[in-house]
Amino acid sequence: MDDHWLPALTALEREIVRYDDPPPTGASGLAILPGHRPVLLSAPHAVRHRRDGLWKREDEYTAAIVHWLHERLGVHALYPTHRIDPDPHDDDDQGAYKQAVRDLVQAHDIRLVLDVHGARGDRDFALALGSIYGETCAPYETAIIRAFEMEGFHTNSRASSLDRIAINPSRYAGGARRPTVTRFVWQQLGVPAMQIEINAWARVVARLPESYEALRGVAPDFRGDPARIRRVLSGLMRIVEAVTISPDIESEAG
Ligand SMILES: [Zn+2]
Repeated sequence: MDDHWLPALTALEREIVRYDDPPPTGASGLAILPGHRPVLLSAPHAVRHRRDGLWKREDEYTAAIVHWLHERLGVHALYPTHRIDPDPHDDDDQGAYKQAVRDLVQAHDIRLVLDVHGARGDRDFALALGSIYGETCAPYETAIIRAFEMEGFHTNSRASSLDRIAINPSRYAGGARRPTVTRFVWQQLGVPAMQIEINAWARVVARLPESYEALRGVAPDFRGDPARIRRVLSGLMRIVEAVTISPDIESEAG
């Protein structure tokens, strides 16, 4: 990885999303970026999203991460560019975001969908992997865990929580309760999918002044750990490589 990736992520985050602005008239408010690899990276909470009548904070830098991997590796990428209503995880599977997921999956050879999210910095994991307790991502779950283990994260660590991979922790199981992108992709499209929650320390390069947190004076100068952000990106790149060389398993999927 070259030296420019940190400022590149910050520049991207500044350029490609407007956390709290409504989409311009006539615009879809979605960035739909087709690629040439068999992986779709989705970041549905990249901006404010309306759930149960409340605007929820954006998952900072998830847009920058999936966009960067689109540019660098040619994965398919999808994220909202402006605040989104309804939240794709509270839409009865009827929202425009999930329809864009469906269109991408039906138009391209996509064997894995990773739904990328952000968790708060005080959680007890670096990464939480949600597959509804093993249901949604059986063909690739081991490879995904292995990819992050190769970057120094551990599933069974008594060391720092910021090196820990939590698998299907109760609040982040990928859609046991909510109509998530992960559940939609597996149950309705028959393609393996996993929800990945990334701790703020392993994701947020430099908090932007217009973020939900900064506007409320919560750690406005927050900077994550560059080494961990790099390890997360490298792990995601390993996953893309592993899926690219894997045989097409579509016929075995649900
Ligand atoms: Zn989220």
